[in-house]
Amino acid sequence: MKLRGKVAIVTGASKGIGAACALELAREGASVVVNYATSKDGAMRVVDEIIKMGGKAIAVQANVADPLEIKRLFNEALEVFKRLDILVNNAGIYEEALLKDISIDHYDRMFNLNVMGVLFASQEAAKCFSDAGGSIVNISSIASSLNTPPYLVYNATKAAVDSITSTLAKELGSRNIRVNAINPGMVETEGTHATGVMEDIRKAFEPHIALGRIGKPEDLTKALIFLVSDDSSWMTGECMVISGGVVPF
Ligand code: NAP
Repeated sequence: MKLRGKVAIVTGASKGIGAACALELAREGASVVVNYATSKDGAMRVVDEIIKMGGKAIAVQANVADPLEIKRLFNEALEVFKRLDILVNNAGIYEEALLKDISIDHYDRMFNLNVMGVLFASQEAAKCFSDAGGSIVNISSIASSLNTPPYLVYNATKAAVDSITSTLAKELGSRNIRVNAINPGMVETEGTHATGVMEDIRKAFEPHIALGRIGKPEDLTKALIFLVSDDSSWMTGECMVISGGVVPF
């Protein structure tokens, strides 16, 4: 148990990668704040599973695309657990749109959650971390370097997340706040299934993956524990690609 006594907030933890991160943090002894936007049942399932394994968790609804709701999320977390050590900026959306199809709404939806949410959640976390420091892990994406259309705006949001990771690491290093990113390749989640074309995605991606399969959320979570634990205590500002070995398209 590498995280006994620590408290973590995971944004967008009602399903997919966020839920797997919340469960693994709890397995390592952290108390976990399971944030969700709309899926209360999903968030409660994660909380119940953590409590069943003897851990501590609460679910907090908050739209991470809204800085005021982010503030409330952190206030509620502090009220219950009294401290904060770890933030996983996972909440994110991915929508396709070629240049001819992008709209201001599409741009705002993608940037307000994937970028503004990361910035303002990190701002709150930096206020809450103690003098001992803390750890922020941003769930970015291999999309930031593959740059495949039609994810024009999504790719740009994740490139911004990589830049924020590197810049914040420098700004916050003197307080022993480490900031790193995990950049997953294609991972099968509720979100990717919701696209309705999961099997097409699988067929398109798998020939480009050295290990021959797309990922599961659990393929990422051991790396998360490495990044938030003392095992990586001299590591900050890094973007760790975990993709099964994606060969550029
Ligand atoms: P997912 O299955 O769609 O789950 C998304 C989670 O984010 C849900 O818990 C959802 O909560 C939450 N969420 C959505 N909008 C929110 C908002 N405004 N405020 C707070 N929470 C919100 O997604 P996923 O596939 O696990 O992806 C998670 C992250 O990994 C994203 O940042 C994504 O860009 C990144 N990523 C995914 C892949 C992949 O292949 N899956 C690859 C690379 C990177 P509700 O259910 O309550 O709405």
